[in-house]
Amino acid sequence: MARIVMKFGGTSMAGIERIRNVAARVKREVEAGHEVAVVVSAMAGETDRLVGFCREASSLYDPQEYDVVVSAGEQITSGLLAITLQAMGVPARSWLGWQLPIHTDTAFAKARIGEIDTTALDESLAAGVVAVIPGFQGVAEGNRVTTLGRGGSDTSAVAVAAAMKAERCDIYTDVDGVYTTDPRIVPRARKLSKVTYEEMLELASVGAKVLQTRSVGLAMKEQVRVRVLSSFDDARDEDGHRGTLIVGEEEIDDMERQLITGIAHDKNEAKITLTAVPDRPGAVGAIFAPLADAGINVDMIVQNIAHSTGSTDVTFTVPSADLARSLDVLEKASGEIGYGNLVHDTRVAKISVVGVGMRSHAGVASTMFQTLGARGINILAITTSEIKVSVLIEEDYTELAVRVLHTAYGLDAEAA
Ligand code: ADP
Ligand code: ASP
Ligand code: MG
Repeated sequence: MARIVMKFGGTSMAGIERIRNVAARVKREVEAGHEVAVVVSAMAGETDRLVGFCREASSLYDPQEYDVVVSAGEQITSGLLAITLQAMGVPARSWLGWQLPIHTDTAFAKARIGEIDTTALDESLAAGVVAVIPGFQGVAEGNRVTTLGRGGSDTSAVAVAAAMKAERCDIYTDVDGVYTTDPRIVPRARKLSKVTYEEMLELASVGAKVLQTRSVGLAMKEQVRVRVLSSFDDARDEDGHRGTLIVGEEEIDDMERQLITGIAHDKNEAKITLTAVPDRPGAVGAIFAPLADAGINVDMIVQNIAHSTGSTDVTFTVPSADLARSLDVLEKASGEIGYGNLVHDTRVAKISVVGVGMRSHAGVASTMFQTLGARGINILAITTSEIKVSVLIEEDYTELAVRVLHTAYGLDAEAA
């Protein structure tokens, strides 16, 4: 007998027929003698719909009220799964974020999980009752409902697994594992049987949405064994395994190590340019301090060489979801910063290549620039880390860029 967490994403929960499929999988684990906690997402498309209502109500919505609205999708699916399990003869009970509770900080719309009280959870599992927990939600000081940022149900699942000391955390989704790139864009992407926490963390942080970034960071810190697998397909690899395991670097032997592990893209960034910013100490600080105070994460930054006029252009990216708020903050700070124009563009995409092999091999970035250049794709901004190179390009070229880079780094699967 083991304690396990099973997490099901939006596509897996979209409609009663699919919820029945999920319930059947849960039942199988219960019948195998395991103690099971299930974490569920809202039905596919539901959170987008709820976010849309908030935006329609006001472009500068109050994040506290946004959380009240968007957490609702998971409340529905957790109740529906509990009903379905009960109907199949499996005792089950739902536990909303505030009922367990799952404590978070007060960073509404992107809250971080602090502590999870496992008293109710332990009692439920000991009594043989499956605990169904809505992902994505928690409760902050003052009993306010919070949400964890888009894709946050993965983080709920890993946090629950860590708190209840689960043997494993299985993330069931609509693909059968983590691939070298999004298999919906590159059909010749290869499934990875194992990927390190560190590489998965980078891949997730640059847009491989198969796992939310924070879930990987948390799994790494708490040493939770995470597996990504399909909720629709039970096919096994030649070695009898399913899905992709996220592991420590020591668990990958040299034979399996690749220079580049994967390529990711992210269309959810917006580019902002401030023209004619005075070229003097403190000017850049005056731009980014108010953005930081507003809780907005700036990603790529490019500052041009000063013009002869003693001013410079500063370009950077922010999450598209924070664009309206960013523009508002910068307009309010215009006197302090003293810029010329404020322009923005949402038709951009960030393309990133990730791999621990970069630490010991030169030339990864130049291959990227040359490959994109040969296709006439212009690079608008660049950032790098120890194991990642990212470039910003026009959004229309996203699919082409990912495909040609996948080939250039030798990641294409053999034709079947
Ligand atoms: P869920 O609703 O189950 O949480 P998501 O849509 O959040 O599912 O994540 C699964 C999707 O992630 C896949 O359908 C796939 O299109 C996308 N994806 C992006 N990059 C990758 C990758 N490297 N490997 C696998 N899937 C990826
Ligand atoms: N339903 C939320 C979202 O769509 C959380 C999740 O599915 O992980 O972002
Ligand atoms: Mg997801």
